[in-house]
Amino acid sequence: MKILVINCGSSSLKYQLLDMDNQNPIAKGLVERIGLPGAVLTHRPDGGEKEIITAEIPNHSVAISLVLDALVNPEYGVVNSLDEIGAVGHRVVHGGEKFASSVLIDDEVMAAIEECIELAPLHNPPNIAGIRACQELMPNVPHVAVFDTAFHQTMPPHAYLYGLPYELYEKYKIRKYGFHGTSHKYVSQRAAKILNRPTEGLKLISCHLGNGASITAIKDGKSIETSMGFTPLEGLMMGTRSGDLDPAVVSFIQQKENFSSEEVNDFLNKKCGVLGLSGVSSDFRDIEQARDQGNYRAGLALDVFSHDVKKYIGAYSAALGGVDAIIFTAGLGENSPEMRLKVTENLEYLGVDIDPEQNNVRGKEVDVSKPEATCRVLVIPTNEELMIALDTLEIAQRG
Ligand code: AMP
Repeated sequence: MKILVINCGSSSLKYQLLDMDNQNPIAKGLVERIGLPGAVLTHRPDGGEKEIITAEIPNHSVAISLVLDALVNPEYGVVNSLDEIGAVGHRVVHGGEKFASSVLIDDEVMAAIEECIELAPLHNPPNIAGIRACQELMPNVPHVAVFDTAFHQTMPPHAYLYGLPYELYEKYKIRKYGFHGTSHKYVSQRAAKILNRPTEGLKLISCHLGNGASITAIKDGKSIETSMGFTPLEGLMMGTRSGDLDPAVVSFIQQKENFSSEEVNDFLNKKCGVLGLSGVSSDFRDIEQARDQGNYRAGLALDVFSHDVKKYIGAYSAALGGVDAIIFTAGLGENSPEMRLKVTENLEYLGVDIDPEQNNVRGKEVDVSKPEATCRVLVIPTNEELMIALDTLEIAQRG
């Protein structure tokens, strides 16, 4: 079966068409600047030249219809007709407490996703727009929602509750939800395969280190604790997000800088993290380069970040009662041997022992530990699209 995976942002749309017989993408692409001047669709058929299509793209509906046209285009398309596409998997950021797994979309599911807008006001509306547009153009295939939060719904209350009056949880559903669930799920399943162990009994710490970053403790294949919280702002310091703070700092900044509540929220999400600390960039490559050229604040940002990751690994190995493997994934985790070394330095007490030569790898699935290490360190490139497609296939085949 061929499965189309759709990931709608506020002004962008990423897609992949996968052939599930071999789990490979047949085409992928990106629509940018939806609703803005200069909108563009970049379509890449597997093994072919990339095609750039410029058009007026006022909304997600037009974006999706252009994507479908590209997929069947006689010149650069990859299928003869849309009938070859058996199902569509949609990435949805927030499923609240309602969804602990992926689901076939029906009216009731749509209403529940709409109820979650309050929890993800920037993300769920474009996800919903994408689903609606796709349903209209492909009414006869199953549409499946795959949530970033679902994998973390197995967290026990002692992990997801904050030290706030319980009534606030009951009234407003303020609790830790966690994000990047599709990525953590994918790499943890791959880790079990690489280690040749059943998920039952396996204790994993998965470090998704990209522009957004989060760490998850996974026991028996289930998330038991994760670093992102009510929103993706909690946890590790990230490219532009502050991560954990003393909550009193927020109102202090608001007062001192004369920010409204929206402005302080925007500031903490977009101007902080390694960008704010280094003053150089949110991109770790730029920061490593600046540090190599002697920039003190760039070096400091890398030190704070790696210290943050190390602290969470320590905390999560305590929560798990030991750890069989630490996984590094996403842009930085997959591609920075230096960051992996820095993070795992002094973790010998957990049984970590990296082979520096093996670790000198970028974007490949490799166990970078020495043979005698009792806690393995794995580099596993994430593949959220494949995870979405696998869930979609399973649900579509269930009928
Ligand atoms: P992602 O959000 O997963 O796309 O990851 C983006 C982040 O990964 C950016 O901060 C990049 O700087 C970082 N990254 C990608 N490649 C490398 C690399 N070779 N070395 C260091 N950081 C990298």
